[in-house]
Amino acid sequence: MVGTEDTTPQVSTSHFAFDSQATIAYFCMEIALEPGMPTYSGGLGVLAGDTLRAAADLGLPIIGVTLLYRNGYFRQHLDEAGNQTESPVQWLPEQFLEPLNAKASVAIEGRRVFVKAWRYVIRGESGHGVTVYFLDTDLPENEDWDRTLTDNLYGGDAHYRFCQEAILGLGGIAILSSLGHERIQTYHMNEGHSALLVLGLLEKQMSGRGLGAATVADKETVRSRCVFTTHTPVSAGHDRFSLDLVSQVLGEEIANAIISMDGAADDLLNMTLLALSFSHHINGVAMRHRQVSRQLFPRYDIDAITNGVHAFTWTSLPFIRLFDRHIPQWRRDNFHLRYAMSIPPEEVRAAHREAKREFFAQVRQRNGVDFDLDVFTIGFARRAAIYKRPALLFSDIERLQKIVSSVGPLQVVYGGKAHPHDEAAKEQIRKVFEAADALQDSVRVIYIEDYDIALARYFCSGVDLWLNTPEKPYEASGTSGMKAALNGVPSLSVLDGWWLEGHIEGVTGWAIGTDAPDEDNVEDELESMYGKLEKVILPLFYKQPDRFAEVMRSTAAYNGSFFNTQRMLIQYMRNIYRLDHQP
Ligand SMILES: *Cc1c(COP(=O)(O)O)cnc(C)c1O
Repeated sequence: MVGTEDTTPQVSTSHFAFDSQATIAYFCMEIALEPGMPTYSGGLGVLAGDTLRAAADLGLPIIGVTLLYRNGYFRQHLDEAGNQTESPVQWLPEQFLEPLNAKASVAIEGRRVFVKAWRYVIRGESGHGVTVYFLDTDLPENEDWDRTLTDNLYGGDAHYRFCQEAILGLGGIAILSSLGHERIQTYHMNEGHSALLVLGLLEKQMSGRGLGAATVADKETVRSRCVFTTHTPVSAGHDRFSLDLVSQVLGEEIANAIISMDGAADDLLNMTLLALSFSHHINGVAMRHRQVSRQLFPRYDIDAITNGVHAFTWTSLPFIRLFDRHIPQWRRDNFHLRYAMSIPPEEVRAAHREAKREFFAQVRQRNGVDFDLDVFTIGFARRAAIYKRPALLFSDIERLQKIVSSVGPLQVVYGGKAHPHDEAAKEQIRKVFEAADALQDSVRVIYIEDYDIALARYFCSGVDLWLNTPEKPYEASGTSGMKAALNGVPSLSVLDGWWLEGHIEGVTGWAIGTDAPDEDNVEDELESMYGKLEKVILPLFYKQPDRFAEVMRSTAAYNGSFFNTQRMLIQYMRNIYRLDHQP
């Protein structure tokens, strides 16, 4: 291991009482920081970025650790039939990140794979900086294949993926030492991808005595420093690797340690089990998700902290101006968004119309389509995944046509990339294109290519209704509806994830189906969705615009003030990091 230079951990200007050098290390496979850095695929990465932004605002001494991804998470191309193809994103890390000299190494298949880090500093609202390290193996001293290990997010086969997770977990621990971060109190595994870090910590704890000699007390020492947030509500979604692969890549000693420490089941390393077994605090990302996670992992005590979004990042310019005028403290203290209730509805409507105009300018620029500002517009954008059922809205084309002819016109905008190997999700995108054809003369439906955080800011604020149709209980939380809510855009959504908490019927939006934890009958869900569009939502929009503006206002006030990462991080600090327990 080649420890060289770097940095004393930054001095914190925090409002909380703790050692300014004590630090939380927040590990995540993907972190979304700014447009132009394609280092994320979807909700998990956006949440990680929003969390660290809120930490910068609050002056929390946290550092982020993730991988660099030189090829980016691909650029999406859609042909006329909706067939998706992909190409790498060209980006230059040196335009965004500062390369550091420190190096560390991880033993992979008996080779030393060297890792370096690039630094990004997030400046918070009060000027406090939060550092994020992007790990990189593209170094001349590495063999060709090892140099590609930090190229592709969620790319390659199980072997590639496992080596990547070794770089993130083991490489992450090693490089933090090389960088001089010796006083980290808490390691936060945000999802299971980084769980190998517990073995890195245990190795340090054993100082060369070998993992096989670890005692219960050694393991407890590591446990006292680790916390884990699970994001996946079904067991098939948890990362697993064969123990043969683990032995091949990391050696027999590590494979045996994993088995003896409850990290494996059925001859598979389960990254979630490993993280659970080594964490003293575990949480799910919404109340329902805790319930589902407890059923999956009954041996563990699982808490819940519901996700949020970074309010300032996701508020459109027209709403920033509106909030600045009426509730100027909202940026510093997001709870002030609650007082959006006192903003005159006409002003909410005017700000929304402006946001809608800005989004429609994007629509024109990207798809060459002129959307009508006066027409009710539904938005649906997120990773294209089968459980999110993007084409559910088009299950009954005739019903939609009937609604439009009896109540009023409708426009629909879609966005979202399918994982390159996910043929079923790609098929869903084609289905949206087929529906667009079938509805040609009655409803304008478009799909915008290459959904990303830059587009999302316009998208979530520039429609009249945010649609979400996940299959229960697969939506652990969901966050895009929170972005919409900040901009006064109500949701029409299946009662799963955060929406069980954010939904007040007719006040913050509308529910599809029931709040039962099990799947609803699809026929009932369709009836609920179409029925509300036809009898409640479209009539409200077209016949009672003042009432619709009141719904927009209460959506922002109730859900903007709560479903943000400022509130979320305060809960992490109190309940999980236990920062307020420090002397
Ligand atoms: C917010 C966001 C997501 C998450 O959307 P969900 O509806 O919560 O799945 C995905 N992708 C991008 C680009 C986002 O900004």
